Amino acid sequence: MKNQDQKTDPKKTTEQPKEKTVADKNKETIKVTNTNVQDKIVFERKEAYIEPQTRDLLKKLLQDGDEVEIIPTYTIGVGFEYRTTGSIINNNETTTLSKNSLEKLVQLDILKKSFYDSVSICPSCQSTFMTLHNRCPKCESRNIDKTSLTEHIPCGYIDQRDQYIQDCCPKCGELLVEGKYRNMGRWYICQACGEKFEKPEFDLVCRSCNKIFTIKEAQVTEIPKFTLNLARKGEIRQNVTSLENIKTILTKLDFNIEIPGLTIGQKTGMTHHFSLIAKKQINGQEIVIALDHSVSETEIQPSPLIYYIYKTSEIKVDIPIFVAMPKLSETAKKITQGQNILIIEGSTEAPEVIDKIKTEIEDRINQINQKTFNETKNQQPDNKPETTSFFSKLRGIKKRT
Ligand SMILES: [Zn+2]
Ligand SMILES: [Zn+2]
Ligand SMILES: [Zn+2]
Repeated sequence: MKNQDQKTDPKKTTEQPKEKTVADKNKETIKVTNTNVQDKIVFERKEAYIEPQTRDLLKKLLQDGDEVEIIPTYTIGVGFEYRTTGSIINNNETTTLSKNSLEKLVQLDILKKSFYDSVSICPSCQSTFMTLHNRCPKCESRNIDKTSLTEHIPCGYIDQRDQYIQDCCPKCGELLVEGKYRNMGRWYICQACGEKFEKPEFDLVCRSCNKIFTIKEAQVTEIPKFTLNLARKGEIRQNVTSLENIKTILTKLDFNIEIPGLTIGQKTGMTHHFSLIAKKQINGQEIVIALDHSVSETEIQPSPLIYYIYKTSEIKVDIPIFVAMPKLSETAKKITQGQNILIIEGSTEAPEVIDKIKTEIEDRINQINQKTFNETKNQQPDNKPETTSFFSKLRGIKKRT
């Protein structure tokens, strides 16, 4: 195949043998699979951004600056751990992060992983809790002493240092004086067989599972450290900081808030994820806010908005809110026409955007209050179904365009 390809005139590449077509098809399949994997990662990254623990961690990393690293610490009885001392949001509590969750964020390209240390672990249970035992190379006894040998130069006597009682040579009785003796290095002496040796052998005992093994048998594992993927810093910041201010407003308005908010679609029974769901009782009636937010480098395309409209058609929602950061595309704007959706464009970090959201939500609540008040007065409950069909909503758009 390869040789054939090399002989082919590049100008004639449109006329390919059959095998080439098959190969191209395979290529195509691989391409499609890669795209699916990429889509899955993009989707999972979005999910990660709304996961409370991940949000806290990322906020903390953004707050601490570009240089900050999540480095492992060792706790006796526990092992290597990753911790952060939290942001203002979680009251400066220390949070322990599982290595698996950090690895997952690396897979999603949110964090970067690099070498920090490596360590020997038990080959049987992967624990790092182990004790090191010297062993006699001759009789395998662990009953060995570490000592040093000293030579008394004038008489040539060599013995363990502790045999020179009160610094006197046991052979000639002279006092050891500087320059007249030398240390001959560290030695080990087996108390069982009397063997003297320079290098003992070692046993490792795992204190988690009691396995005994040699250093050669121990496994080696890397202990990584983690940092924010700075290439994604802008995206991460927009995603994790976006809803806090809205949450604050809604809390002040006495709403119960869920981030993310999960609801079951009334028609399909599917679980729908919203960025935020807020609920509040007004005049005995539950008011539901379902909010999604979408972030882009330039402008938001129609698809997240259409998906949002679809999800809201499945549930009872009184105040639908869609936040587009930084703004909706022209096509997406057209889709919003005739919809009851409260569209917010811009960063929710900006005070004027937050003020607008607050005013609009208060207006909508007042309208609902007025409506429920009128209904009670006229004793004519509104018989309109709680949900509007997705397609009738889209038909609504068609009429207007
Ligand atoms: Zn073990
Ligand atoms: Zn021995
Ligand atoms: Zn001597």
